[in-house]
Amino acid sequence: MSVNCLRISVTDRCNQRCVYCRPRGDGDFLARAQILRAEEILRLVRLFAECGIDRVRLTGGEPLVRRDVIPLVAGLAGADGIREVALTTNGVLLEAMAADLKAAGLSRVNVSLDSLHARSYGRITGRENLSQVLRGVRRALAVGLQPVKINAVILRRLNASQILDLAALSLDLPVIVRFIEYCPTSCRTEPAEGYMPYAEIRGIVENTFGRLTETVVVPGNGPAAYFQIDRGARDPWPGSGDLWPVARDPRHGSRGTGYGIIGFIAGRSMVFCSSCNRLRLTSDGLIKPCLYSARPYDVKALLREGASDDRIRALLRAIIAQKAGLSRLNASREDFCMRKVGG
Ligand code: SAM
Repeated sequence: MSVNCLRISVTDRCNQRCVYCRPRGDGDFLARAQILRAEEILRLVRLFAECGIDRVRLTGGEPLVRRDVIPLVAGLAGADGIREVALTTNGVLLEAMAADLKAAGLSRVNVSLDSLHARSYGRITGRENLSQVLRGVRRALAVGLQPVKINAVILRRLNASQILDLAALSLDLPVIVRFIEYCPTSCRTEPAEGYMPYAEIRGIVENTFGRLTETVVVPGNGPAAYFQIDRGARDPWPGSGDLWPVARDPRHGSRGTGYGIIGFIAGRSMVFCSSCNRLRLTSDGLIKPCLYSARPYDVKALLREGASDDRIRALLRAIIAQKAGLSRLNASREDFCMRKVGG
């Protein structure tokens, strides 16, 4: 598997406080000077592109709270060799920013949405933003940031009761709904109990919607496995070029405009190291070959001590080559904070 994706955490700050993500203490943000500046990110991405990276995803923290995120997207989208710039967001600021992001060159968005029920959404995220996020999803669809993927981390005692509603959202709107297994991190404040494995979540969906069939290639080549609920239309991406045909209902709201495609990311119960094609750049300038890497590479130190392009490129090449031999057996969960690394 060739390594061609880079996930960039552009900030560790966030406007939500999700139970599975927020660090202990809640206030230990990085000092601003520790966070990579836009020109540093752009230089690194230019060098990464020379080493074979052609897709980047911005994440965080919440990438949309970073003030210069729109010019950053524009710079990345215009970088030689970069074919796609995507973004993972909690959607709170998406309604206001979707059109500018699209104009800046963003290709598509993943929106985190763990519940369609205001009360449980509030309990999970610590904020009452559900209606804003839903408006953000609609706006993203309307401006053509497609396909929109919805990410839902499922925790047994918090939102397992939402699994069917979330699956049904894939029939209501032209979005792909992905169920994500909760991963323990060293920074979380909530206990890990409540984890639901992929097989159980899938069983709940199949009990109501019938047997899921493995489905067509979905844009993005990450770790998710995709399936189709039988009620959905088949083959929503005929041909190759168009990522997502314009939704059939311009209101993007009434039941029936979705394709019934759902995905599962079984990051805990399954191991997909051999098909992992991504590297991570943390908000404080460390390169992690794996989410669980115990030994990240401090590329910010190189940037700030004036290292040449050749020297940095040599490091990037070595990391990419080393990635092929990585597995969780030589990785660790130590010192792993989702906000800094970027989920
Ligand atoms: N703030 C943005 C958001 O909410 O999407 C981007 C950052 S967030 C860390 C990226 C993704 O990581 C989200 O989809 C979130 O649900 C997921 N995530 C965070 N903590 C997680 C955990 N402990 N286990 C599994 N997924 C997690």
